[in-house]
Amino acid sequence: MKGAGRLEILRVAAWLTLCVLIGLSFNQPLVWFCIGLTLYLGWQLWQLSRLLKWLKSPQDLDVPESNGLWGEIFSNLYQQQTLNQKGQRQLARMLNEFQASTAALPDAVIVLDRDDHIAWCNEAAVSLIGLHIPNDIGQRVVNLLRHPAFVSALIREDYDTDILLPSPLHAQQTLSLRIVSYGEGQKLVMARDVSQREQMERSRRDFVANASHELRTPLTVIRGYLEMMADESKDAKPLQPWAAPLSEMSQQAARMSRIIEDLLKLARIESHASSGKEEWIDVPRMLSMILAEARALSAGRHQIIPKIQPKARLRGHSAELQSAFANLIFNAVHYTPEGGELRVSWSADATGAEFSVVDNGVGIEQKHIPRLTERFYRADAGRSRETGGTGLGLAIVKHALEHHGSVLEIASELNVGSTFSCRFPISRLSID
Ligand code: ADP
Repeated sequence: MKGAGRLEILRVAAWLTLCVLIGLSFNQPLVWFCIGLTLYLGWQLWQLSRLLKWLKSPQDLDVPESNGLWGEIFSNLYQQQTLNQKGQRQLARMLNEFQASTAALPDAVIVLDRDDHIAWCNEAAVSLIGLHIPNDIGQRVVNLLRHPAFVSALIREDYDTDILLPSPLHAQQTLSLRIVSYGEGQKLVMARDVSQREQMERSRRDFVANASHELRTPLTVIRGYLEMMADESKDAKPLQPWAAPLSEMSQQAARMSRIIEDLLKLARIESHASSGKEEWIDVPRMLSMILAEARALSAGRHQIIPKIQPKARLRGHSAELQSAFANLIFNAVHYTPEGGELRVSWSADATGAEFSVVDNGVGIEQKHIPRLTERFYRADAGRSRETGGTGLGLAIVKHALEHHGSVLEIASELNVGSTFSCRFPISRLSID
């Protein structure tokens, strides 16, 4: 451009010199100089108007051609235009590919703007959720997907949990929804059909529940006879050599019964069958009853220190919470050696309520903690059997708490002690 500028000055100088020379031959150099300058200005204005015309519709018109400085300007513009067009074509291709691949996804994808209006959705959103394209584009998503769990997750900006809900189109179908936030307040709602997985989960739960149920009656009969024979063996001569095996068999049958009862309890909690209607629970009263049982279990071997805020009530399912609190407190008794100390606390404030059980018992090695709520997982299998544990207690606690918007937190150190705690949201609380 620098070179082109210099050349242009030379061109103008040459042109004006030519005009002056012609003017000299007519003895009017100044007049010809002005004529030359006017012609040059006119040419410049013409180039400017060509540029303006092209700038108004660069898509429809070719970049003008010229020479000198203008030629250089137009050729630069042409290069820029070619580059832009290439970039645009690439972007359009990428956008098409993205839309085609998202449209082909078996999962529903809905793009929401910052006010939760539907900006775009794919084909699967039509077949899974029942959206109508293009009518539903621009509608508020909560007017079309009204399930309370989804609406509340959207309001609470809860983007971490999968929301399970029945498909609005087919009641038999279960959808798993996830909200993903991106950009400046925009959201992506993704939904997938998990009916098959749910069906398998249900079959597994039903199988465990049915098998446990079927085993319960024969086992009760066996236990009855075993206990009777164990009693008889104390006095009746022919049974005396069998006294020890009969007592062992009786104990093992009792253990099997406990496992079956816990399996049934877990199946009921998992399938929400025990839930029924939620009620306001007087937690302090419930805890004082569990603590009385814990004292009986401890038989004076531990110091049990309650710290219970008297007037905080919780909305939930009584049987499930009773199970959860009792499991945690009884575990603390089981896994704390004689002379140990147990602290049970229940407190509430403006942000929610907290329940915790702290013991200075055997503690748990760090590597076991993430797996403790799995069914039949034991940090110390020998000790668990000694205490009559079934290995299902913490799995029951986990599911029962989940139904109440709470998560079990475990902190423990081997040979120092453990803290099992959970927080309940303020929406479930009433403080008198
Ligand atoms: P179990 O019936 O065996 O007690 P749980 O599911 O209640 O089964 O607990 C799982 C495991 O967690 C137990 O086997 C035990 O190893 C460990 N555990 C639970 N509570 C405590 C505690 N308070 N202190 C130490 N270990 C514990």
